[in-house]
Amino acid sequence: MKRALFPGSFDPLTLGHYDIIKRGVKLFDEVIVAIGINAEKKYMFSLEQRKQFIEEAFKDFKKVKVVTYKGLTVDFCKEVDAEFILRGLRNPADFEFEKAIAHTNRTLTKIETVFLLTSSSTSYISSSIVRDVIRNNGNYKLLVPDSVRVD
Ligand code: ADP
Repeated sequence: MKRALFPGSFDPLTLGHYDIIKRGVKLFDEVIVAIGINAEKKYMFSLEQRKQFIEEAFKDFKKVKVVTYKGLTVDFCKEVDAEFILRGLRNPADFEFEKAIAHTNRTLTKIETVFLLTSSSTSYISSSIVRDVIRNNGNYKLLVPDSVRVD
């Protein structure tokens, strides 16, 4: 079974993430969306909220699973038997950053990272911009799937 892990913070899930996951589903038998837990990071949305947003957005996709994890992504890949890491590339800055991580992961293990270029319509979206729009009462709904709600 070809299983890919799509790791990230998803604080919150955006239309950019949504696009990559939907396209990943066509390439792999299973896509595990893995929310990394980093005790040192401050999040806008709780882990439970972030998980719910993704679960609801993909409730009709049998091949998409949502989990949380701590520690090294490659260690977690081994735990869930995922041979691939899926990542989205928006711009050259993403590429430089992702290149170093992918090389490191290949040095540590045999896990391959598969990159998908973002769709042009969502390439400008980042979770940090979405959080900024939310903080300043902008119409964040244009940037995220319907499941992402702010109370
Ligand atoms: P991180 O904590 O690694 O920054 P994110 O939740 O922001 O995690 O992103 C997880 C993955 O989603 C990364 O591969 C990132 O490049 C990708 N991604 C983020 N925003 C977009 C977007 N707008 N289009 C496509 N991929 C994206």
